[in-house]
Amino acid sequence: MQKKDYYEILGVSKDATSDEIKNAYKKLVKEWHPDRHTGENKKIAEQRFKEIQEAYEVLSDPQKKAMYDKFGYVGEGSPYTYERNGNGGFGFEDMFRDFLNDDIFNIFFGGQRTSQSRSSTSGSRAQRSPRRGEDINTTITIDESDVFVGKSVTIEYDRYEACENCHGEGVEPGSKWITCSKCHGSGVVREERRTPFGVFINQYTCDACGGTGTIPGETCHVCKGAGRVRKRASAVVNIPAGVENDTVLRISRKGNAGINGGEYGDLYVHINVKKSGDYKREGDDIIIDVRIDYVTAILGGSVVVTLPNKEDVEIEIPAGIQPNEKVVVRGKGFPNMRNGKRGNLIARIIVDIPKRVSSKEKELLKEIARMRGVTV
Ligand SMILES: [Zn+2]
Ligand SMILES: [Zn+2]
Repeated sequence: MQKKDYYEILGVSKDATSDEIKNAYKKLVKEWHPDRHTGENKKIAEQRFKEIQEAYEVLSDPQKKAMYDKFGYVGEGSPYTYERNGNGGFGFEDMFRDFLNDDIFNIFFGGQRTSQSRSSTSGSRAQRSPRRGEDINTTITIDESDVFVGKSVTIEYDRYEACENCHGEGVEPGSKWITCSKCHGSGVVREERRTPFGVFINQYTCDACGGTGTIPGETCHVCKGAGRVRKRASAVVNIPAGVENDTVLRISRKGNAGINGGEYGDLYVHINVKKSGDYKREGDDIIIDVRIDYVTAILGGSVVVTLPNKEDVEIEIPAGIQPNEKVVVRGKGFPNMRNGKRGNLIARIIVDIPKRVSSKEKELLKEIARMRGVTV
């Protein structure tokens, strides 16, 4: 058997008081709760969470702690597992009830705790508490030209919707909830284990009923008891004019159905704006490089640029403009996402110096050189 250092897991010293152990545990379960981690980290968190449970389970029990201090281990494995069972309840939920305050409970279980669950007649039984459905993320790619007017896009996606046959209860209509046969309705399973150090009684939340003490007499034939079913859904996404790349729009209640009557989650739509030219966006301004002929730079003139929305904008070039100088055309930028007011078009002037000129042009330039007293 692998010996685990429960003190090290909880980050407390060997002579820590029970309060210190409790506080360390509270802090760690908050930090490592799997619901607060995603991706690869979730696996690590689940593992850590389990270890923390196990360590606390032993160190918070004077008898087990004494045994552990003396022999280095107690029993085998952990009686607690972090798993969502078929009923959507949390096996360890009731374990937290008694000593974690409501705020912490809300972080863990989505704030669905009701006074009803507290006034339960059987103190140790878990309730089928409603859990909010998961949020769904999706991405829409639009053209830069759409940014000028905004766009309404209808998207299709898969999500869980509340089962219509059982109204999300997971029980076949007409069927009743019956007492769980594994735990005889107590929600808790007791196991006796004989070890060289004596008999240990291991108590854990019933996995057959998720600690609720009851199971459906007949599970819903449509959702197989899950209370929700996978369906093709659609949503209309109104993308506002002026939307910036990477903007995230939230459409409430368009995510997955909740469990045990919990709220629907939300749909998060990430907007990806496909670039369509050599423009840069800075705030609501369009930044663009404009090449002009050296003669235009000297004499002045005008050039026309076409915006992503096919709008032509004439840019007045004052005589004697310098390379890299900027010309601002007011009100020809992107619309502002909030008030629709357009930003500016900012043209950075690049002066084209021809690499080769005709012999006629060369003659004329030489004459200008003489006139200006420039040696060529
Ligand atoms: Zn049970
Ligand atoms: Zn159903």
